[in-house]
Amino acid sequence: MAIDSAIAKRMNELVRFRHEMHQHPELLYDLPETAKKVAAALRAAGVDEVVEGLGKTGVVAVIRGKTQASGRSIALRADMDALPVREATGKPYASKNEGRMHACGHDGHTTMLLGAAIGLAEQRDFDGTAILVFQPAEEGGAGADAMIKDGLFKRFPVREVYGMHNRPGLPVGQFAIGPGPYMASVDKFEIEIKGVGGHAGRPEKAVDPIPAMAALVQALQTIASRNVDPIQSAVVSITMVHGGDAFNVIPPEVTLTGTVRTLSEDVRNLVEARMRALSDGVAQAFGASAHVNYLRNAPVLNNHAEQTEYAALAAEAVVGAGKVNRHNPPTMGGEDFAFMLQALPGAYINIGNGASAGIHHPDYDFNDDAIGWGASYWLSLVRSRLPLKA
Ligand SMILES: [Zn+2]
Ligand SMILES: [Zn+2]
Repeated sequence: MAIDSAIAKRMNELVRFRHEMHQHPELLYDLPETAKKVAAALRAAGVDEVVEGLGKTGVVAVIRGKTQASGRSIALRADMDALPVREATGKPYASKNEGRMHACGHDGHTTMLLGAAIGLAEQRDFDGTAILVFQPAEEGGAGADAMIKDGLFKRFPVREVYGMHNRPGLPVGQFAIGPGPYMASVDKFEIEIKGVGGHAGRPEKAVDPIPAMAALVQALQTIASRNVDPIQSAVVSITMVHGGDAFNVIPPEVTLTGTVRTLSEDVRNLVEARMRALSDGVAQAFGASAHVNYLRNAPVLNNHAEQTEYAALAAEAVVGAGKVNRHNPPTMGGEDFAFMLQALPGAYINIGNGASAGIHHPDYDFNDDAIGWGASYWLSLVRSRLPLKA
């Protein structure tokens, strides 16, 4: 029960890598420097194979164990992209890219998986193959899906896939996980309400889309409160209202934009159907028309029960049983690792980031003290899922 010795002796180097990555945040698929640095660090770690450019800018490392008796392999995944946030931490290694920041800790995730690469390549104390996946575009770009569509699991067939994210508020050296739906589906909607514009002093000659919009905002609140089973979860948040250019002109159209979060595909389908029905019906009642553009992003992140157990056991082997919460409740945040858990059995675990600001906040920073625990968890997982024959 401790930080792995292979990781402990390389800690300074790992912290330096994290700070260097933190200073040069890049967005979505546009990761020229980041991907290059990750690939170079993996080669320096002595992994067997490095593949770049999968899913545009994803990087994959292959590490073979001492033996290949079982022929088994598992995948471990980290994300590499930052956010369009202006950093306010004042740290000496703060972002040098104005208006961009590693505000979700993906610099830490990448560093922990790099730590695992170093430990695995050095010790090789497992049977089979570890596939390390560094993905782009987790923040709303479906980078996990892009890597899968680019042949990730065809080129590197694995039995299971595992992911990890830091969690502010959870003490450093602790883990949390839960079986079943663990994070929400993330959808975006845009509802365009079309009327007939005109002079604001002569509304009788126009079809004003604004009262229709106001009624629709109210009506959409009834999806979660009146249509969804109260024991289930759904969020419908309208986050943008756009329309109009002048105080004395009735605009021809208004647009509502927002997000829908659910923890089941059935609820997701119900919310979309009700949104379409209400938009059409309400707009029509006002003599206007509505067009709903409903975009499905990440699906519900479903932790597979068996692999959740393996993940919890691997974490317990590092930090002790009292420090792994196996029944952490789901959140309505989203995570595109959900695409990988649709493709294969696996599990997604949270690692404590201590008392930091929340993720996506300008004051947030990944906690360097978590690097050793996270990298050791990866090693523990590989050794337990791909054990050497005695
Ligand atoms: Zn994020
Ligand atoms: Zn994140």
